[in-house]
Formats: sequence, structure tokens, C-alpha cells
Amino acid sequence: GASIELENLTKRYPGNAEPSVDDVTMEIRAGETVVLVGPSGCGKSTTLKMINRLIEPSGGRIRIGGEDVTGIDPVRLRRKIGYAIQSSGLFPHMTVAQNIALVPRMTGWPKARIRDRVAEMLDLVGLDPGEFRHRYPRQLSGGQQQRVGVARALAADPPVLLMDEPFGAVDPVTRVHLQDELLRLQRELHRTIVFVTHDFDEAIKLGDRIAVLRECSRIAQFDTPETILTS
Ligand code: ADP
Ligand code: ADP
Repeated sequence: GASIELENLTKRYPGNAEPSVDDVTMEIRAGETVVLVGPSGCGKSTTLKMINRLIEPSGGRIRIGGEDVTGIDPVRLRRKIGYAIQSSGLFPHMTVAQNIALVPRMTGWPKARIRDRVAEMLDLVGLDPGEFRHRYPRQLSGGQQQRVGVARALAADPPVLLMDEPFGAVDPVTRVHLQDELLRLQRELHRTIVFVTHDFDEAIKLGDRIAVLRECSRIAQFDTPETILTS
């Protein structure tokens, strides 16, 4: 994994009275899972999108592995960061396999390796490759689409994973399985993970540290689950 440093990060959307992210400073260590937990509309997604350079900060800095992201070539950033979102973000005109293969293909992996990896990722998220690889997103349930979104985020084995309520529509049994897979990625492969949820139990289960947003746009508490549970 790589460290992620946010320094005085601020986002003001044009026309909004209040900033959506207000002067947030935090350091996420390499190999650490940090969960952002709090009510909706409090700037969690906006924070992930800034780390990903999908939107520009109004102020402050972001460094990944010590490198200012504004200086990183977007294609390189895509290889470095796996991104899974609530709405899955699958391309509707591409099959499940093509969606999952997106970043490996961009990275120039050989065809045979991509094919194997697609099957491996589908197995990991509990979807039978034979049944699902040639389907289009519209032929999947919401939960299945999310699982493919997670498979796509993990496909190129990126050092950094940004996950924005990635299991919201997934059935409870599969959700526990995917949470356990994330814990494994973190413990065995030391991926750096920033995970957004409004589910406090999920935050406690997954986070090495948890950033709690109580009032919007600012982090009220940033600590280990043990400390947060006893405070
Ligand atoms: P969360 O992920 O915690 O639900 P968001 O980051 O999605 O919160 O949103 C934080 C705030 O920023 C909300 O008040 C939302 O209305 C506002 N916001 C988000 N995206 C935009 C946008 N593109 N333009 C204007 N305001 C936005
Ligand atoms: P283009 O570069 O052709 O404009 P993008 O790279 O923006 O296309 O593709 C966006 C889609 O790729 C989104 O649906 C998103 O879910 C997915 N994606 C995969 N990895 C990333 C990433 N690291 N950051 C943003 N989007 C990503």
C-alpha cells in the first residue's frame, strides 16, 4: 500500500453556502484501513472523489505515497487506485468481463492473464464466471452489479482502494464474505483502504481507525475502534 495524506483539504461546490469538506487534515498510513463514517450529505463521497481526482479540491493538498496527486498522470492514478462505488459505476455497454478487465487492459496485461483474473475476481465476489462474465450490467440485480463493481476495483490489485458504500445493496451473507475478503487484503497484502459507510457496525469491523463525522464536513473523532467504542 501507499500512505495517503490529506492536508487542510477543503471543497466548496459553486453555489453552496457551506463547504462540503472543511479543512480536513489526516494521515492514512500505508497498509491501513480507515473508515469514514457519518450521516449522508456530510462530504464522505466528496473526499474520496478528491483523492481520486474526479473532482478538484478548493483548497489543501493530497499526497499518495508522498506524491502530490495533482502532479500524477491520471492514467497512472487509475492503476494505483481501485475505486468501488455504491451505484457500481459499471459501463452499461460493456459486459461484466469487459468492465472487470478495464484497468488490467489499460495496464497492458496479456490477454490470458486478464481472462484468468476476471474469473478469479468473479469467484471472489461469489458470482459464477461461466454464468456471469458475458452478461451486461442491466442483466444483473443491484447487488450483483455492486459485486462486479468491487471485482473491477480489485482486478489490477491496486495498492490503494477507495470504497464508497460498496456493499449497500449486497445481500447480508455475501456482504459478510466481502467484508472478510477486505480484511484479508488488508492483513495479507497490506493494501491501503479508505472505506465510506453510514453503518457503524461495518466501520467497527473493518477500520484500523475510524473517522467519525458527527457534524457535517468536519471530522469529529479519528481513532481506533476500541477507543471510539469506549469514549
Ligand atoms: P456523503 O458522501 O457524506 O453522503 P457528499 O460528499 O455526497 O456526502 O456530499 C456532501 C455535500 O456536498 C452535500 O451537502 C451535497 O449536497 C453536496 N454536493 C455533493 N456533490 C455536489 C455537487 N456536484 N454540486 C453541489 N453540491 C454537491
Ligand atoms: P476516462 O478516463 O475514459 O474518462 P474514467 O477513467 O473516468 O474514463 O472511467 C471512469 C469509470 O472507471 C468509472 O465508472 C469508475 O468507476 C471506473 N474507475 C476504475 N478505476 C477508477 C479510478 N481509480 N478512479 C476513478 N474511476 C475509476
